[in-house]
Amino acid sequence: MEKTLTRYIFVTGGVASSLGKGILASSLAKLLQASGYRITIQKFDPYINVDPGTLNPYEHGECYVTDDGAETDLDLGHYERFLNQPTSQMNNVTTGAVYQSVINKERHGDFLGKTVQVIPHITDEIKSRFTKLAESGNFDIVITEIGGTVGDIESTPFVEAVRQFKWELGPENCIVIHLTLIPFLKSAGELKTKPTQHSVRVLQEHGIQPDILVCRAEHALTKDIRAKIAQFCNVTTDSVIEAIDVDTIYEVPLKMKAENLDRVVLFKLKLMARQDPELTDWKKFIQKLKTPVSEVSIALIGKYTELPDAYKSIQESFTHASAENECKVNVDYISSEYINSNNVSEKLQKYHGILVAPGFGDRGIEGKVTSIQYVRENKIPFFGICLGMQCAVIEFARHVLNLSKAHSTEFDPDTEYPVIDLMEEQTRIINKGGTMRLGSYPCDLSPDSKTFKIYQQKSIAERHRHRFEFNNKYRDDFNKAGFRSVGLNSKSDLVEIMELKKHPWFIGTQFHPELKSTVAKPHPLFVDFVGAAIAYAKS
Ligand code: GLN
Repeated sequence: MEKTLTRYIFVTGGVASSLGKGILASSLAKLLQASGYRITIQKFDPYINVDPGTLNPYEHGECYVTDDGAETDLDLGHYERFLNQPTSQMNNVTTGAVYQSVINKERHGDFLGKTVQVIPHITDEIKSRFTKLAESGNFDIVITEIGGTVGDIESTPFVEAVRQFKWELGPENCIVIHLTLIPFLKSAGELKTKPTQHSVRVLQEHGIQPDILVCRAEHALTKDIRAKIAQFCNVTTDSVIEAIDVDTIYEVPLKMKAENLDRVVLFKLKLMARQDPELTDWKKFIQKLKTPVSEVSIALIGKYTELPDAYKSIQESFTHASAENECKVNVDYISSEYINSNNVSEKLQKYHGILVAPGFGDRGIEGKVTSIQYVRENKIPFFGICLGMQCAVIEFARHVLNLSKAHSTEFDPDTEYPVIDLMEEQTRIINKGGTMRLGSYPCDLSPDSKTFKIYQQKSIAERHRHRFEFNNKYRDDFNKAGFRSVGLNSKSDLVEIMELKKHPWFIGTQFHPELKSTVAKPHPLFVDFVGAAIAYAKS
């Protein structure tokens, strides 16, 4: 392989899953970006689905959608939120996508006469994807997060590809950071290094000597422990980085800075530290997050409420809006399945704002409609996202327009009043994967709307992921009755935003604003919604 100017950093994980490889990759990227490097992060996932779009959120958390319409792993959301720069289809690769492309090539005859094998065909395909993003010439450094835990059968081809790639590029162009856990044994009163030693040994058995170890721990690593880890795992002592638990993920870059992770990385890659990371705004953000002057409680009503990862981007958007408003935002997850007209007031009255979440399938729909009627009539701030907007349309049709059994054809295909209906182009689609209305679409705002005031611009672009839409047959009826279509796609004439006139804050969006909120640019709708909740709390 040719020598390259782009440097590569791989992040692997050992000992346990969920140690936060995504946050580590994002934090390191943030520090390097703040030092003047052009950087991107990609995620390689070991599962066989071609993308996570067909996975239930309980399996794999939220499905994050990029501008170019890729359905991806939720870690890409962290990459965007930390770096304030968009990712794309190319930033997420799965085993399924790798095999699909190798098998397509085999059918095409690209390997005629050869036996197609994991090595070299699958590993070659993986390696070609390691470098894809760098081909644009836009990046000095590419960070690749390898999903799963080293030693899993599934991730072995990825680990082998990293080994080959590192050998081909040489040590100054490619390094491996291994994230492990140093558990604290209460009974012994000690931090234990053995699991980390074993996990590094697994990597070494695969032919990879990690360059840096990042050690998750609940207690500080002493000098002795650092020295012991370094010696047993064959790394320099300054390459043993402590990652102690913090209050918010946004503090991790500062912790990693304090541990000199960025310096050690640049040293190993033989790169100059161009400048000390410029983190003034980042620190201000954390300062505001940690010293709120007010407090509100928001109910997030959905159906995947036992797993907060299912609504990761919404949660993070509230965090960004919380700092912007200097207000502590408590978000309670409430399952709509158990809400009915008898208990709705008891369940929702203590909240200063209600968000009805995106979703699929009919479980809990009636509870969402009941909740929306309650907040509409009681003038509690309401934010409906995608399915949340669709439920608001159903509620308004039933209780204000008196179309008593109005519904979405997703839930009642024979409804007399299909106020939400399948989009024309969706009616012919049979395959489920990657076929929704996906990615960024433009939207024009009515100048006399609240939404326009919030965005401060006439044309916006937001990301979508849905098959159903507001049915334009009913548009005039809704507009006349005061639930107005204030955001439209000029090309397709699809309704993207609905806003209720006689209400302090009642907005539904067909798109997902949460996918574009970042630390540097909190989403205006979330910021204003929290502002409305603060006003409601005061009143
Ligand atoms: N199930 C609805 C649709 O497909 C809403 C999807 C969503 O909330 N993302 O249109």
